[in-house]
Amino acid sequence: MSAQHSREIWLKSRPEKWPSAENYELVEVPVPEPQVGEIVVKNLYMSVDPYMRGRMRDAKSYADAWQIGEVMQGGAVGEVIASRSPDFAVGDYVVTGLGWREISVSSTKGIRKIDPSLGPLSAFLGTLGMPGMTAYVGLKKIGEPKAGETLFVSAASGAVGANVCQIGKILGCRVVGSAGSDEKVAWLKEEAGVDEAINYKTVGNLEAAVAQACPDGIDVYFENVGGDHLVTALNLMNKFGRIVLCGMIAMYNEPIPCPPNLGIAIGQHLRLQGFTVSTYWDLYPQFLKDMGQWIGEGKLKWKETVVEGLEKAPEAFIGLFKGANFGKMVVKLADE
Ligand code: NDP
Repeated sequence: MSAQHSREIWLKSRPEKWPSAENYELVEVPVPEPQVGEIVVKNLYMSVDPYMRGRMRDAKSYADAWQIGEVMQGGAVGEVIASRSPDFAVGDYVVTGLGWREISVSSTKGIRKIDPSLGPLSAFLGTLGMPGMTAYVGLKKIGEPKAGETLFVSAASGAVGANVCQIGKILGCRVVGSAGSDEKVAWLKEEAGVDEAINYKTVGNLEAAVAQACPDGIDVYFENVGGDHLVTALNLMNKFGRIVLCGMIAMYNEPIPCPPNLGIAIGQHLRLQGFTVSTYWDLYPQFLKDMGQWIGEGKLKWKETVVEGLEKAPEAFIGLFKGANFGKMVVKLADE
């Protein structure tokens, strides 16, 4: 019998509205011996992401529902500590979908090696990982921005939003972001280089503030939030504008009715298009090339909120819905 044990977090119950610590259970399990073709990965960082709220629900969604009484899944960066696969060696750093646990034993399907020379390991869960890819494909493929156009971004200082803002600047757009604190707004203007940023929590009339920041209207709205932000953007969209439906975090815990002004999309010839990043994963090599270049040129910066310890992961996840993260929220599970 293996002497090694790993802690992991199981889904204990499904939240009705807001998730709470009671929905999770910390469990210690023995680590099985790897079979032929399998690798053992010690997780160093795991990701918590807003889309995981959908996986807590027993309903059809673009990501499979987690099952009660089972370990949850999600992005993680780790180090291979044992290998029975010819393609992976002890010491390789990898990204897996086997977060929410300290050690994983699995086949190598879907596991990607990463090159730590491109950036810090945790960045492969943020700017160099899924959220960065979401920003890259969402903006380029769905938003199709042109130089000189106005791009409005909600949740603009977050893992996806901060990359959308900076890629938008690189592509020559006028960029306006909305975020939930003065500190986040200052970072967007001073570090990320956006043209205008708005604290939606203190601004009072959101639409008046966005209208003032976008004197020529909005050509591309990158939607991360839903609710008032979508209503505001619809009212300010230019003809033939594009709304990139990436996420609607304001609606994940408590449903908000469809925007009453959606009909504007007809007269304004708007294109509202949803997408999931998984559809575009074939663009990952090009993404890494472009992002690597932009990072090297100092054009892409990011912030991280790092929470330490697996037992803190549920709290970190719940914090996403309260703006507790500044940039990408990651949970550190072990020293590199
Ligand atoms: P973030 O790092 O941006 O974290 C979430 C942020 O959302 C919070 O920090 C908070 O920032 C903001 N927020 C939370 N609740 C509200 C609210 N009620 N109103 C306004 N803002 C709110 O998360 P991600 O960058 O990982 O994700 C951003 C969006 O992109 C989410 O909707 C997510 O579901 C979506 N997504 C979609 C993908 C796809 O394939 N389509 C893939 C990945 C993400 P603040 O302080 O500014 O309020």
